[in-house]
Amino acid sequence: MIDTKHLQEFILIVGEENIYSDKAHLIAYSYDATREHFEPDAVVFPRDEEDISKILQYCNEHKIIIVPRGAGTGFTGGALPSSGGIVLALEKHMNKILEIDMKNMVAIVQPGVINIDLQRAVEEVGLFYPPDPASQEYSTIGGNVSENAGGMRAAKYGITKDYVMATRAVLPNGDIIKAGKRTIKDVAGYNISGILIASEGTLAVISEITLKLIPKPKLTKTAMGVFESVSQAMEAVYKTMASGITPVAMEFLDNLTIRAVEQTFHKGLPVEAGALLVTDVDGNLEDDLDYQLQTIQRVFKENGCSEFKIARDDKEAADIWFARRNASPSLSIYGSKKLNEDVTVPRSALPELLEKFYAIADKYKINIPCFGHTGDGNVHTNVMVDGKDPEQVKIAYLAIEEVFQATIDLGGTLSGEHGIGLAKAPYMSMAFTDEEMNLFKSIKKAFDPNNILNPAKMGLD
Ligand SMILES: Cc1cc2nc3c(=O)[nH]c(=O)nc-3n(C[C@H](O)[C@H](O)[C@H](O)COP(=O)(O)OP(=O)(O)OC[C@H]3O[C@@H](n4cnc5c(N)ncnc54)[C@H](O)[C@@H]3O)c2cc1C
Repeated sequence: MIDTKHLQEFILIVGEENIYSDKAHLIAYSYDATREHFEPDAVVFPRDEEDISKILQYCNEHKIIIVPRGAGTGFTGGALPSSGGIVLALEKHMNKILEIDMKNMVAIVQPGVINIDLQRAVEEVGLFYPPDPASQEYSTIGGNVSENAGGMRAAKYGITKDYVMATRAVLPNGDIIKAGKRTIKDVAGYNISGILIASEGTLAVISEITLKLIPKPKLTKTAMGVFESVSQAMEAVYKTMASGITPVAMEFLDNLTIRAVEQTFHKGLPVEAGALLVTDVDGNLEDDLDYQLQTIQRVFKENGCSEFKIARDDKEAADIWFARRNASPSLSIYGSKKLNEDVTVPRSALPELLEKFYAIADKYKINIPCFGHTGDGNVHTNVMVDGKDPEQVKIAYLAIEEVFQATIDLGGTLSGEHGIGLAKAPYMSMAFTDEEMNLFKSIKKAFDPNNILNPAKMGLD
């Protein structure tokens, strides 16, 4: 718990206008997208890297907990001050794009830059920053790096980690480090930037990020395939990805999800279909896009696709994407409580994974609608129950454990994009051996011997 003396010290560092401990601020910074909430003792808005360094140094000396925070859109509680302490909010002052280097095709940004602002700024000069989490309008690049966020374009372009070339960061003792360079190649020393990616604010506060940019493709086309069964659609996914062309997106909705979107929005979706696949291709030549779409159509048809629709214009493309973009909120028709996981398996395991999920749903007599980024093997698995019924909630958690076990058995991971945070911490021992967990803990200790930075996350405590 911090006291008046500590608050006075923080005021000396950041100024009175950048530290708050009034109830309104404490409540505002007690949430993220999990619906859990934990109030901090204070909220501090550092103005620059030097402020962060001084704050961390002081907190380390006085064993005060610090929780870094971007926009607070995390789905696993990473930015929640579950053990009290100070929330270090980076979105207010540290939100500048510092440089767009056209010659080397890199951008240098502060951690609080909103993802879409970076995308727009680089696209204005003909460049492209592909990682596009669905939270792109509000999540920060610092949060994206700390969670290794993915998005709709990951099937072709990869995820945040594929674009991070270097990071500046402040260690818990206040030391400032620079990890990585503005070079394509850099094999000198440990890959510290790589360790910071997806470290969920537990190792250091990221204060500056150097990101790779690529040329912006000129053309995009969208198509949709209708399948009788999920297993046919899942076969089509991995066979398309191995067919010699690489679609930008290969997104999936199962029958329960199609029905939920249709019941909510009345868009004329094929409610009898077992699954829909939505795909985008891009490039610079019409002929190239046509070739990609012909290849996808052929593979889809070989795997039971009954209808293949290519959007003729932007409006038709938006109509096709509507169902996928509105899948998540529509699922509330199946229950007030949703346990939404983002498990990921090697793509060829998708047919078996989905079969196992529906068997779990049958066993517990609940609905588990699934949709997601199947081009990356990433399935959003939604265990839906009545949140007011404690028995149902208990069943939901039993089902989730089986969802994780099925995923791990197929060589998959607990999280493809949302991270571990608080929500998935209890399941880490299912996915990692004691030896592996001990290695994680020793890395944490090397960075943060006093355990002041975002403790009790990722199953490390
Ligand atoms: C509607 C919605 C859609 C979403 N869609 C996607 C999606 O498509 N793909 C996806 O991957 N995620 C998605 N997310 C989850 C979330 O947006 C991402 O995890 C995002 O990267 C979090 O960014 P943030 O700025 O909100 O970070 P926060 O939630 O504020 O923080 C996340 C974690 O990062 C740490 N952190 C933040 N900034 C720093 C820093 N500078 N230094 C050190 N640690 C830091 C925090 O301590 C915390 O552990 C979605 C969330 C919502 C609400």
